[in-house]
Amino acid sequence: MDDVDRLVELMKEADYIVVLTGAGVSTESGLPDFRSPTSGLWQDESLMELLSTETLTSDPKRFFERTLPLLELLTEAQPNAAHRVLARWEERGLVKMLITQNIDSLHYEAGSRQLLEVHGQLRTASCSCGTVVSFSQLVAKVRKKEIPPRCACGTALRPDVVLFGDPMPASFGQAIGEVERSDLLLVVGSSLQVAPVAYLPNMARAMAIINLTPTVADGEAKVVLRGRAGEILSELDDRLTRG
Ligand code: NAD
Repeated sequence: MDDVDRLVELMKEADYIVVLTGAGVSTESGLPDFRSPTSGLWQDESLMELLSTETLTSDPKRFFERTLPLLELLTEAQPNAAHRVLARWEERGLVKMLITQNIDSLHYEAGSRQLLEVHGQLRTASCSCGTVVSFSQLVAKVRKKEIPPRCACGTALRPDVVLFGDPMPASFGQAIGEVERSDLLLVVGSSLQVAPVAYLPNMARAMAIINLTPTVADGEAKVVLRGRAGEILSELDDRLTRG
């Protein structure tokens, strides 16, 4: 029995599978992750400072002019095999909840609805008055040099993503509850280095990891499959369907 078969067995035995994904699940859609050795966005060390509440409030011009091209790139990608397999597994009742750190909406576009986007998403932007507009409306305002882009009430709008300096959203509390309830947590495409999401695996009763490179939690996992998420999830799906 190889490691893929071992994971198939764990998945068949589990009653409540929760999946946690990171930027690695979207690299096969052409989006750079943060920490891949040569292509990761983290090569640009100023990004953490740029993607922060501090820059958003103190220098909105720099925030919107520098981050918008990057955020727009994320909205142009299409789901890949990994997103599609995970959406199918939800449809079949195999996966009960999908927690993602990604803001690219690709799980949503692939059809996943039992979805907790704990770092936010790029479908909408909002104002502190409660008004929600589409992300493309925010982009249109910035293109017309309305910086910061404003709500009808006059207050600045911001993208609905979690920036450095922001508190975690309520969905993160739900994510903790889901991981505690699970009997198998499947982590796909995450270096598990970004807190507080990185603490979720510690709360899981059992865990499996699918990732291209080693992660800090490999030693805690029942199975570690090293490789591309799209290929491995498709192979798992084939073997699960074959029975
Ligand atoms: P990360 O960049 O820290 O780690 C990604 C991991 O995925 C790496 O270990 C890498 O080896 C692995 N990987 C790359 N391609 C893979 C593939 N095809 N198959 C399997 N594994 C692959 O990502 P993270 O842990 O999600 O943390 C990054 C943070 O940056 C998150 O908070 C996320 O919100 C944000 N981010 C999001 C996007 C996005 O929305 N697509 C992109 C970049 C960064």
